Amino acid sequence: MEDRDRGFDLEDRLATLEDGDLKRTLSPVDRVAERGYFAEPSGGDLPVLETDEALVFASNNYLGLTADRRVQDAARQAAATVGTGAGASRLVTGDTMVHRDLERLLAETKDCERALTFSSGYAANVGTITALEPDVVFSDELNHASLIDGCRLSGAETVVYDHRDVADLRSKLEARAEQDDAADERWLIITDTVFSVDGTVAPLESICDLAEAFGAWVMVDEAHATGLYVDGGGVVQAEGLADRIHVQMGTLSKALASQGGYVAGSDELIECLINDARSFVYSTGLTPPAAAAASEALHLARHSDARERLWENVAHLRDGLESMGFDAPGDSQILPVIVGNREDALALAEGLRERDIVAPAIRPPAVPEGESRIRVTPIATHDKDDIVACLEAFRTVGTELGLL
Ligand code: PMP
Repeated sequence: MEDRDRGFDLEDRLATLEDGDLKRTLSPVDRVAERGYFAEPSGGDLPVLETDEALVFASNNYLGLTADRRVQDAARQAAATVGTGAGASRLVTGDTMVHRDLERLLAETKDCERALTFSSGYAANVGTITALEPDVVFSDELNHASLIDGCRLSGAETVVYDHRDVADLRSKLEARAEQDDAADERWLIITDTVFSVDGTVAPLESICDLAEAFGAWVMVDEAHATGLYVDGGGVVQAEGLADRIHVQMGTLSKALASQGGYVAGSDELIECLINDARSFVYSTGLTPPAAAAASEALHLARHSDARERLWENVAHLRDGLESMGFDAPGDSQILPVIVGNREDALALAEGLRERDIVAPAIRPPAVPEGESRIRVTPIATHDKDDIVACLEAFRTVGTELGLL
């Protein structure tokens, strides 16, 4: 293995900005605090999500917190006291204590120095990758579209490696390292941690080993993991890898029951994003109700039993589906029930819907031919009867269609 540093000298970049008097910065936190709002998350029992007609097994509201009274109250209070919109970019007048509070909590959860919020996860990915200006990106073939777009927009050469295939990633890193101009390049390895369609989990530790061997940086997208693992963190926290991963990105729109995205990392990284991530600089700050709702949801993800309830539901549903003969692979809360051809997947989804279970068919081009599936996602606020109802519907329709 070669001994090279292919990282990003952010300190140097910030110093250049400072030298040229070009460095932008958020105002001191005390000044923001003076504007007078500080969210203090509350505790209490989670109410059960009510659904009138159908049980939804298709949302990313994994902890069921969009229907939680405390999260709704936090949004309401922020709207009433801070306003319904930020009114401007964070760098102008859109910065409030609600944003700072959320970012502090995100940084703490993600074991990082700092975090920065964006108006969406999409904006976070596109803004971050373009701001880093990598020369080469090594990207898992199933990475989210916002990561792909970020790579495209950054102008980096993108090398796609086979899904979760560490051997393929290694051989692509080796091949690139042999090229004449590789010595001074900045390399970024990017992967989702939980993949949204397959429910698979990236081999993060092996990716970190490779990144370190080749001097590259690692960026992870924890959109489908944030809030669900140890202390409300993601896969990075579950595997204790925060100090080996340079950029931890995620969204507030799934388990955190809100809207917006975030990036967590070093102080230098966040300072660079504040200056160079165009989707941060030139976009209105996250709305205060969205930020306050996400703070409260993150607090509940950390301190309530919502995570435990989600994982119990996942185990119940997966065991039930597999014991009746369905194939539900993956290692996460996303259960892809692989059916095969698209007609069967569509018929199964339709049959489930007739029995008041909402779980959509996913078919080509979203997945390869022959891998059509139903993507089933239980949430924390489904109760045992809901899971049993879902399993019963799968058994009845699966039997009718001859899939079992
Ligand atoms: N990354 C992944 C893996 C996602 O699934 C999504 C949302 N579908 C995003 C990023 C974008 O997040 P947002 O919806 O907050 O823009």
